[in-house]
Amino acid sequence: MRTSRPEHERWRPSIAPRLAPLPDDPEVIVVGAGAAGIAAARALTARGVRVAVLEARDRVGGRLVTVSLRGHAVDLGGHWLHAGPINPLVRLGTARGEPLRVAAQDSHLWVGRRHGRPAEAAALGRAFAIADRAMSTQATWPGPDRAAATALPPGLGPWGRRVERVHGLVSGQGLDRVSLQDFPSMEYGDNCFIAGGYGGYLARLAQGLPVALGTPVTGIDWGGPGVRVCAGSRSFAARAVIVTVPTMVLRATPLFTPALPPEVEGAIRGFTTGIYEHAVLHWPSCPFRGADRLASLVGGRDASPGLLTRIDGTPFHFFELDAPMAAALDARRAGPDGVRRLVRTTLAAHFGARALHDLSIPAVSDWRHDPFARGSWAVVPPGHAGARAALQAPVADRVWFAGEALSRLQWGTAGGAYEEGQRAGEAVADSLSGCRCPERRRRREGTDRPAGRRALRPQPSGR
Ligand SMILES: Cc1cc2nc3c(=O)[nH]c(=O)nc-3n(C[C@H](O)[C@H](O)[C@H](O)COP(=O)(O)OP(=O)(O)OC[C@H]3O[C@@H](n4cnc5c(N)ncnc54)[C@H](O)[C@@H]3O)c2cc1C
Repeated sequence: MRTSRPEHERWRPSIAPRLAPLPDDPEVIVVGAGAAGIAAARALTARGVRVAVLEARDRVGGRLVTVSLRGHAVDLGGHWLHAGPINPLVRLGTARGEPLRVAAQDSHLWVGRRHGRPAEAAALGRAFAIADRAMSTQATWPGPDRAAATALPPGLGPWGRRVERVHGLVSGQGLDRVSLQDFPSMEYGDNCFIAGGYGGYLARLAQGLPVALGTPVTGIDWGGPGVRVCAGSRSFAARAVIVTVPTMVLRATPLFTPALPPEVEGAIRGFTTGIYEHAVLHWPSCPFRGADRLASLVGGRDASPGLLTRIDGTPFHFFELDAPMAAALDARRAGPDGVRRLVRTTLAAHFGARALHDLSIPAVSDWRHDPFARGSWAVVPPGHAGARAALQAPVADRVWFAGEALSRLQWGTAGGAYEEGQRAGEAVADSLSGCRCPERRRRREGTDRPAGRRALRPQPSGR
């Protein structure tokens, strides 16, 4: 593990919200000011509960951060607002008049050194449809859980391999390492983007909340009637705590005294680490046109997991790194410069070195080496499909968990994290006030939610 500051933390966030001081006698401590922590704090504040948010970084937003690069707002973490119809951040953004835009449905296909042909794009589209149908159908079959890859029909050929790679990218691990029962059904419409970046939007939502930055929590004692939360030499007493720290961090850093019950500890340890990293390209002469289009580069020696081109209509693009690429780079201790070299080599193989004459790579993310993230999101491996639900139950009515890892329908996403933060905030407020409102409980437990979907996949249109 590198000790220097991860590269995505070296830029100043584009928005620094004005934060309120912590109350002297908080009723609830929220650990972490990412999407889940901000949602929990907003829900608690709206219910009149005194809350203190403790955040390790010197900024809010967690794995959502927008920085200013050459005068343009660029996300170095989450960027897509997935699953529009069930994403609370889309609902809230619409109500607030935030500058949302619907993601384009068509995308680019590049085969070897040329644009893909319509027949190739159609073949890729068919392979996606067949694979998605097979996985969503078999996920509901009775019997033990297994790897999502085992549901893929044989004989999909090279397009099938491309499908598997894209699903592996957006899952954070190859499909041989992802639970079929946990694998969400796939629907690729309904994604949005937001002008000014997702991190900027979340920072606006933190405005006025009582957050202490630069305050890493080092211990949580829940052995007494309430909780005592330690951050170095500082100590905070409260009636309850909502922990939104990523499960990868909880796994690496024991925080709880006494130890958590075995089923909760087992759930945290059972998750694996999802890897997804951005290399931000500034490439004015990139051959792809049209704002916010996904591009698949297939064929040749150096395939790439995926590109998002001309973000917000600018010359910025994301080149995405998946788990196998990151593992190969880390095995060579390549570091951010090694990532840049790999990206250049891959692009040169597809477009020729001359086409890269105006390419620069101003930023690469490094979430897997970030001590307060340790990865991009939590992944449920085969056989561990109950883990998300296991974390939703409070421990002794004073320790609640929230965050992307708990969301069944929007896992690994900021929308899922926000929804889980809201759920935990409302549950704690109910518990403090002795409210047993069945309507709210039903909403919290998700029994009246529509089936959800995770969404990111090229809809190949040839050019
Ligand atoms: C490169 C990348 C691309 C992504 N793309 C998308 C996307 O397009 N769309 C999407 O919806 N999602 C995307 N995601 C996932 C999304 O960013 C996360 O699911 C979401 O932001 C998680 O929110 P959270 O509140 O659960 O966790 P976090 O945002 O990680 O918040 C947890 C907070 O806890 C803090 N913390 C950690 N340890 C401590 C401690 N000891 N004491 C105090 N505070 C602590 C952290 O600093 C952090 O601020 C992406 C993630 C990455 C890395």
